[in-house]
Amino acid sequence: MKLLIVEDEKRMSEAVCAILRQEKYDVDAYYDGFGGLEAARSNIYDLIILDVMLPGMNGFEIARNIRKEGVQTPVLMLTARADTDDKVEGLDSGADDYLTKPFETKELLARIRAMLRRNNIQSTDDTGKLSAGDLKLDQGKSMLINTENGMDVRLSEKELHIIEIFMTNAGNIISKEQLAVKIWGYENEAEYNNVEVYISFTRKKIQYLDSKMEIKAVRGLGYELRQKETS
Ligand code: CA
Repeated sequence: MKLLIVEDEKRMSEAVCAILRQEKYDVDAYYDGFGGLEAARSNIYDLIILDVMLPGMNGFEIARNIRKEGVQTPVLMLTARADTDDKVEGLDSGADDYLTKPFETKELLARIRAMLRRNNIQSTDDTGKLSAGDLKLDQGKSMLINTENGMDVRLSEKELHIIEIFMTNAGNIISKEQLAVKIWGYENEAEYNNVEVYISFTRKKIQYLDSKMEIKAVRGLGYELRQKETS
């Protein structure tokens, strides 16, 4: 899961990043409004944490801008005070939830988990396993399982990443660019050409499991994990 945090108080940001990384989230941090907006509009994040007061452009404006551009990524707004106006403005600007500073780590993590759950068709069970259709991902064991027939297959690190992205976005089209950036970051063009190769590996493993789900190429747009059409 890829998270973005836009917060200008560096120590605060570093503390939150450390906590999130400990929870195995992949986190990018930006410290000002313009950088934050650029990152947020890239549409590669699963969740965005936005501080309200930022140099350059405030959190409300960032949220309004990305929503106007059609970016649907869930936004958690950090408000400084228990100020009702801030909360209302936050929600009006397109934020999905807010948290008042100072907050407890436990609450931050609970909100994030809830928002990620809400955002996806997929669900996680009590043990934190992701599922989509008849597929279940056991991240701890790097296994993909068809829950109906109990078959499993071991995944490489890249395949695990790919299937995780597809399962958390089940029913949504993901472009090759989005996948490349989520997995390899902006820098690595050499790896970019491998996206199709890794998708094809991942596809074959899903086929091997005899799942009802499939990764379908959507012409000109990207790929989608969805229920197989039965003939
Ligand atoms: Ca601030």
